[in-house]
Amino acid sequence: MGNRIFLGVDLGGTNTKFALVQEGGEVLERSSIRTKAMRKPEEVVDDIASEAQRLLAIARKKEREVPALGIGIPGRIDWEEGICYLLPNFPNKWYQVPIRQWLEDRVGLPVGVINDVRAITLAEKRFGAGRDVESMAMVAIGTGVGGGVVLNGELVIGQHGSAGELGHITVEAGGTECGCGNRGCLEAYATGPAMVAAAIRAVVQQNDTLIRDLAEGDLNRVTTKVVSQAIAAGDRIAMEIMQRIGEYIGQAVANVYVTIDPELIVIGGGVSRAGEPLMDSIRKGIKKRLFMVPWESVRLVRAELDMDAGTIGTATWAKERLGKNKIRK
Ligand SMILES: [Zn+2]
Repeated sequence: MGNRIFLGVDLGGTNTKFALVQEGGEVLERSSIRTKAMRKPEEVVDDIASEAQRLLAIARKKEREVPALGIGIPGRIDWEEGICYLLPNFPNKWYQVPIRQWLEDRVGLPVGVINDVRAITLAEKRFGAGRDVESMAMVAIGTGVGGGVVLNGELVIGQHGSAGELGHITVEAGGTECGCGNRGCLEAYATGPAMVAAAIRAVVQQNDTLIRDLAEGDLNRVTTKVVSQAIAAGDRIAMEIMQRIGEYIGQAVANVYVTIDPELIVIGGGVSRAGEPLMDSIRKGIKKRLFMVPWESVRLVRAELDMDAGTIGTATWAKERLGKNKIRK
């Protein structure tokens, strides 16, 4: 293994995570700062640059060379130019923010910019659940639904950088409005907030459910964690909510199969911690919708890298893009 390490940054709405990552995917050093996303983008980037400098000093002390930095962005970007177009969960939305230029000016390293869930997909492909396959699709279910696609062992970016936006597969024609402008996207149905909204509805409708007891009757205390606990305890209403979400995801996965017929489907994100009940309901959804491929042959697994996936993925992106002239030197 060489002496080189890469700095991975995962920009989030609440926290921004950092890691010094070896070429084999091992994390040498990790840290996290509050993003304080209500501030101007310049101020947020100033803080990211300071923390990056602090970690670079640590790398120098260990006599390790850091040739590049990668950053994962939770939104729409131009990955080649390194410009943010829209971060839907940030109060200032970050329209036309040249984040690569700003970071390169402040940190003095080449910077690679990538969508956050595409970075997680890359990490799972290289070092996690997908390390032994050539083709896979990832669905990450959290506050939103992100995704990524790997073909011939490489992350697929697409002409506009939107290959793998699996959260915006239509699963209910004319359905609930999605943040993207379409109606009936997977993301409008299968997220942590959608799960919580369904649970609150069930409580308000006076259904007999453990969710009410776990939240001690307080609707503000209904969270994905509470719903997951109710699922684990076998609560019927919570199981039904999970079932519906799983079936929508299964429907989207069936669409992925008829498009790329991958070897593996990886399910990640906070909601995937619901575990086997969710995986079972996704399998049911696939079985209902997939006829061109024997549904029993679908390999559906949970992501392996968990909390470090974002920073390992962005560090790996920086490494793989270095010298390919897409990262400005
Ligand atoms: Zn959408």
